[in-house]
Amino acid sequence: NDERTGRRRVLLKLSGEAFGAGQLGVNPDVVGQIARDIAAAVDRVEIAVVVGGGNFFRGAELSQRGMDRGRADYMGMLGTVMNALALQDFLEQAGAATRVQSAISMTQVAEPYIPRRAERHMEKGRVVIFGAGAGLPYFSTDTVAAQRALEIKADEVLVAKNGVDAVYTADPKTDPTAERIDRITYAEALQRGLKVVDSTAFSLCMDNRIDMRVFGMEPAGNVTRALLGETIGTLVTV
Ligand code: UDP
Repeated sequence: NDERTGRRRVLLKLSGEAFGAGQLGVNPDVVGQIARDIAAAVDRVEIAVVVGGGNFFRGAELSQRGMDRGRADYMGMLGTVMNALALQDFLEQAGAATRVQSAISMTQVAEPYIPRRAERHMEKGRVVIFGAGAGLPYFSTDTVAAQRALEIKADEVLVAKNGVDAVYTADPKTDPTAERIDRITYAEALQRGLKVVDSTAFSLCMDNRIDMRVFGMEPAGNVTRALLGETIGTLVTV
C-alpha cells in the first residue's frame, strides 16, 4: 500500500484491441464503460493505467508487411497515446481527475513520464495514464505494465482482457479442451507457454516478486471489482 495514504495502489493494463471493439479506432461505448468502472473505484484505490495500441497498429504486423520494425513500433506507440487521450476524456466525463504521461515527449498533449510525479498524482487521487509504452521498439505494453507497476511500487498488476475472463490451459476460442485456471505460478505459465500475457512481462513480474491478476473486462463492473481487490479471473504469483 501507499505508505503516505495507506491505500492500495494498482497498475491496470488495458488492451488497445478492447478500445476499438475489434475495429480500427476508438469505440466510445466501450471506453466510456471502462472509464465509469475506473471512476467508481478511484476514491478507494490509487490507479495507474497502461494502455495498449492494438486497435491502431502493431509493430510486428506492420514489419511483416515490409516496414522497418523500429519505425513500425513507434507507430504502435503513437497509437497508445491516442487511446490514452480517449481514456482521459471519458474518465473526466465520469468525474475522475486524470493525468496522461507519455514515454515519448509531446508536451502539448501529455506530461513526460516522471515516475515520482506519477506517484504524487496518485496520492492526490488522480488516475495516471501512461501512453507511448516504454518509448522503446521491440517492447509490448504488457511488459511496460509490469515495468511501470514495479517502478511506481504498485501492489499488483491487473491485466484486463477482452473476450476471455481468465487464464486457460489453451486458447478457449480455438481449443474446446481448454481449462480455466484460478491460480498459477509465473514459472508454470512460462513453462506451459501460456500466451495470455507476454513472456517478458511474466518474467519481469516473477523476478521482482509482484502478483498479477488476469481477468475479463466484461461484464460492466468487472474492472471496478478487480481494482478493489476482488478475487476474479486468474491470480499469477511467484
Ligand atoms: N510498442 C512498442 N514499445 C512499447 C510499447 C508498445 O514498440 O514499449 C508498440 C508495438 O509495436 C506494439 C504496439 O506499440 O505492437 C501496440 O502495443 P501492444 O501491441 O502492446 O497493444 P495491445 O496488444 O495491448 O493492444
